[in-house]
Amino acid sequence: MRKKIVAGNWKMNLNFEDGQKLTSEIVNMLKDENDKDVTVVLNPPFVHLYPVKKLIGNTPNLFLGAQNCSDKGSGAFTGEVSASMLASFGADYVILGHSERREYFGESNELLTTKTRQALENGLTPIFCCGEPLEIREAGTHEAYVKNQLTESLFGFSDEEISKIVIAYEPIWAIGTGKTASSDQAQDMHAALRAHFASKYGQIIADNLSILYGGSCNPGNAKDIFSKADVDGGLIGGASLKSRDFVDIIKSF
Ligand code: PEP
Repeated sequence: MRKKIVAGNWKMNLNFEDGQKLTSEIVNMLKDENDKDVTVVLNPPFVHLYPVKKLIGNTPNLFLGAQNCSDKGSGAFTGEVSASMLASFGADYVILGHSERREYFGESNELLTTKTRQALENGLTPIFCCGEPLEIREAGTHEAYVKNQLTESLFGFSDEEISKIVIAYEPIWAIGTGKTASSDQAQDMHAALRAHFASKYGQIIADNLSILYGGSCNPGNAKDIFSKADVDGGLIGGASLKSRDFVDIIKSF
């Protein structure tokens, strides 16, 4: 049985007090409302990690993640944060390859291999993002495009390593736009990606990979999207900033 996961990506939002308030609300709601054992991950900006970890405490099924990590281990890399630092703060997950990082910070498939290796070597679970821009979707070459992202970044990892990675399919045209992929579009891509992993790593490993959908997911559409056979949860941006919406998405399984 693969894990059902809902991860909130706060992006570069919320100052200290707002982050504390949001986390406390989510912690309190989940104590009563996470009745389906969904793995929930909060991915705040780096400065929130330690206080958010303290508020999470030992809330069942609630974990801490970061939004990025360095491709370097340590040293003179001003402004960078290493995977080992994140692990030492109690982070369990790290989002890698988000389309905003690929687009605005020039992160290549090759760089993302190195970041993924750093994450795995330090015991973090990468939530590895992939997804196509609108023009690729419109040209009908989206499956080949996304498969290529995964092949180039991840297909050098061993069976054991790949089994530790979570995939997030996020069509770029659906991120923050209010325009969601239909549940059938999500299912088609997720099934294609699972088959792609099966072709390299075998069916058992592919069947155990959690593949999340991301892109304007909200309490109104999550149930439909999560009902699809190959959709194992969501990576949630905007709606993760509102405790009620986020917890309602978690309850949509
Ligand atoms: C995201 O940033 O990963 C995301 C899915 O954002 P949103 O839910 O706001 O589209």
